[in-house]
Amino acid sequence: MSLYQLTSHALLDLIKSRQVGARDAYIAVQERIKAVDPKVKAYVRMATVQPDFTGALPVPIAIKDNLCTKQEEITCSSRILKGFRSPYDAGVIERVKQSGGTILGIVNMDEFAFGSSCETSCYGPTFNPWNLQCVPGGSSGGSAASVAADEAMWALGSDTGGSIRQPAAFCGIVGLKPTYGRVSRYGLIAFASSLDQIGPLTKDVHDCALLMNIISGYDERDSTSVNEPVPDYTKALVNDVKGLRIGIPKEAFVDGLDPEVRKSVEDALELYKKLGATIKEVSLPHTPYAVATYYIVATAEASSNLARFDGVRFGARKQPTQVRKNALVDMYEETRSQGFGDEAKRRIMLGTYALSSGYYDAYYLRGQKVRTLIKNDLDEVFKDCDCVLTPTSPTVAFKVGEKVSDPLSMYLSDIYTIPANLAGIPAISIPCGFSKSGLPIGMQLMGKAFDEEMLLRVSYTYEQNTEWHLKKPNL
Ligand code: GLN
Repeated sequence: MSLYQLTSHALLDLIKSRQVGARDAYIAVQERIKAVDPKVKAYVRMATVQPDFTGALPVPIAIKDNLCTKQEEITCSSRILKGFRSPYDAGVIERVKQSGGTILGIVNMDEFAFGSSCETSCYGPTFNPWNLQCVPGGSSGGSAASVAADEAMWALGSDTGGSIRQPAAFCGIVGLKPTYGRVSRYGLIAFASSLDQIGPLTKDVHDCALLMNIISGYDERDSTSVNEPVPDYTKALVNDVKGLRIGIPKEAFVDGLDPEVRKSVEDALELYKKLGATIKEVSLPHTPYAVATYYIVATAEASSNLARFDGVRFGARKQPTQVRKNALVDMYEETRSQGFGDEAKRRIMLGTYALSSGYYDAYYLRGQKVRTLIKNDLDEVFKDCDCVLTPTSPTVAFKVGEKVSDPLSMYLSDIYTIPANLAGIPAISIPCGFSKSGLPIGMQLMGKAFDEEMLLRVSYTYEQNTEWHLKKPNL
């Protein structure tokens, strides 16, 4: 096995026993990036600052292009932020640096995290390492592809409606969206502030626990950060699900679910039964409204968050060639017209409409009410289940270009992941099979708020009894 193929925990063991140097590992991954990134196109920028290799956990990491990292350009993969440099590190970046993490570079994403395919980036698409004609998923497509292609030992992403879990599923790796408030959002460029959460994308569940140990915890600079003690997540890595109750929502196995995905998830259920878990059929009656609710709430918040990008304070400024209204308004309009891509403009329009007077009650307020109903459904189910299992996405990775002109079908790829964001609960995606065409399949486990440990335990048990996570793409 080459150095760049190691998991982070294996690398750390080798560093501890002095068989491998942290610098050698970093250089090995850099060489790997040089060799395969011209095909995968996960990175949008390499780090300009050379790490020192003296920290406790010197693991080479990739950072999504929406996490403020001092001394690096951070653009949310949007033209409007070209040239923007943050004067400070995001809370998670501080923690990564304090742990000794060695930043490789900044990875691609859908513009402002709007998307499920990594195709709306101003830098062009990232490609799925398992099949370069397919998308890696999104919006954290660069994070997922870099880890799957061994171009990073692990990566950070953000998840507003599925942006960590869906690309993790499409690329055959592990992705966790933590409980809302578990990880500081300070320095995450906001998409929808009541839904956004930062989380790990890793090669296995053990690495997921390790990276959670690094990034979790209270931060007074994020008013929604929760001051709850952080457990040692590696203690949850127990290969035992005996007596645990896994809920299966009947609404999850509906039309539009790819038969191969269904089969893999059903096989996983059988395995859990064999390992001693109890499978319970449950109902989440309001989930059919989750996608519609999300696209009201998320676009409303996005339209408000994106109002700050006006050419005055951040990134790029554009001037029209001739005066139209007055110099200031012309500059705003020109900057925003040229700076935002089509999907960003679509979301700003949808969100502004949902919030406008006369429509607020019919859309935004109603959306908030349905959001509560969806959360209540989940609370009810967790009264007698330890976790809930569903597919992560209804299909495997689709072809580049297949859904770009059909936003509604793109939005539907988040049908399973959105409820966890609306309810603020943690959810993980882990590999559970492959399609006949050789593309990875992922399954999702959702848990109670602040019970990431349960998700890690149940996923770790599955991983210890299967080999999907060991497969590598041929690049
Ligand atoms: N795909 C969803 C969207 O387009 C979710 C994105 C995300 O989680 N950032 O909004």
